[in-house]
Amino acid sequence: MQWEAVIGLEIHAQLATKSKIFSGASTAYGAEPNTQACAVDLGFPGVLPVLNEEAVRMAAKFGLAIKAEIAPRSVFARKNYFYPDLPKGYQTSQFDLPTVGKGTLEITLQDGTLKRIGVTRAHLEEDAGKSLHEDFHGMTGIDLNRAGTPLLEIVSEPELSSAYEAVAYMKKLHILVRYLEICDGNMQEGSFRCDANVSVRPVGQKELGTRAEVKNLNSFRFIERAINHEIERQIEIIEGGGTIVQETRLYDSDKDETRSMRSKEEANDYRYFPCPDLLPVVIEQCYLDEIAKTLPELPDVKKKRFIETIGLKADAAEVLVSSRELADYFETVVKASAAPAKICANWVIVELVGALNKSAQEITASPVTAEQLGGLVKRIADNTISGKIAKQVFAAMWAGEGDADTIIEAKDLKQNTDSGAIEAVIDEIIAKHPQQAEELRSGKDKMMGFFVGQVMKATQGKANPAQVNQLLKKKIFA
Ligand code: ADP
Ligand code: MG
Repeated sequence: MQWEAVIGLEIHAQLATKSKIFSGASTAYGAEPNTQACAVDLGFPGVLPVLNEEAVRMAAKFGLAIKAEIAPRSVFARKNYFYPDLPKGYQTSQFDLPTVGKGTLEITLQDGTLKRIGVTRAHLEEDAGKSLHEDFHGMTGIDLNRAGTPLLEIVSEPELSSAYEAVAYMKKLHILVRYLEICDGNMQEGSFRCDANVSVRPVGQKELGTRAEVKNLNSFRFIERAINHEIERQIEIIEGGGTIVQETRLYDSDKDETRSMRSKEEANDYRYFPCPDLLPVVIEQCYLDEIAKTLPELPDVKKKRFIETIGLKADAAEVLVSSRELADYFETVVKASAAPAKICANWVIVELVGALNKSAQEITASPVTAEQLGGLVKRIADNTISGKIAKQVFAAMWAGEGDADTIIEAKDLKQNTDSGAIEAVIDEIIAKHPQQAEELRSGKDKMMGFFVGQVMKATQGKANPAQVNQLLKKKIFA
């Protein structure tokens, strides 16, 4: 029997508001436990929540970016359950009338083709507190700072068919929310996390199999591993004659396994009802029109432009649009260097990103500015220096020795294009290696590389390789 996996993701993006969704308490990360939860976040008797408009604006911005239906009227509902990190006894969320309705997101598959994934809905809700198990032996600590932090829960259709697709989808959303500046995307701090619903079915079957929901996935690597594990576990059970129970499972990254946490609750277990303390949210077209004006160029559009008008290959474009900062950096390099975009892309992706990764630095803190890198690429393009020497200049720029021109001047790295001088070097080398010269003359083309190498070495890399090639041919075959 051939099996196919079906996956739907519920992604929680913490909205980057300064204050909570229904109170004025701060959302800043890392404060002393229980110093940032106010009476509203804790649901004390007599308090009244007030909706943070900024959270609605961010949800609407997201909705516009994925071309979703945005509800003219949405409603907050209470989702009732008991848990130590939820002293209110209910989470204020949205149920049947979410702010953002159906939309789509396109992912790139391994073979380069695109696949559209449906977004079912994206609703606003508040986060709960956090249980702390590590520092308390035999007890659990509760930190309620996170209670009331605004979340956008983005729910996908069950249309992802592999762990790879699930990760591609999640990465795509991760990039998008940061472009929109509605979420900082920090996965370690829990600002962007995911629950994966996984089921399997025989290939060709229309109905969905029974799913398990895997929680606690806070890195792309874990998501991929957890989903693959879950798929294998389910197939093994079914092939062994068992059945899958609908349940919530927890991924344990230390043991690299999923284990059952609780049987899956149904919506009606939560006794949802409209929150009597909050008015419905009414969104008018003019409000959306204003927000639409604030949308940046979105990653897909940028990628298309990089391919179609700048002439980049799809994979280079994909890397460059992975963050707004990287894309802006690249475009500044192109402008400052006036060099072909492909050379610029190569320098940004290979040298710059490579150096940033090595030193674990963000592009916003890059020791080499985009203007500086542009200045370097310009000198490659106008043949002042070779690509090889440019790497040396880049390292000096990285070390803070100044602009490309300053370094080229100070270290005397200018390419030698004086053909007389190069010819003299060539003559010398041919004289030193008569046998190799004879081989080259009699058709052993590989010897060309040997001679170019020798000349470059003799000139400390400062000769222009193309020129050396040309002059060598002239000398050998003259
Ligand atoms: P709940 O809110 O109870 O978790 P939903 O019906 O809202 O349930 O679905 C949550 C997620 O589960 C969605 O992303 C959806 O695509 C996915 N999903 C639903 N059924 C299946 C299934 N049989 N297999 C895989 N994913 C599923
Ligand atoms: Mg769920």
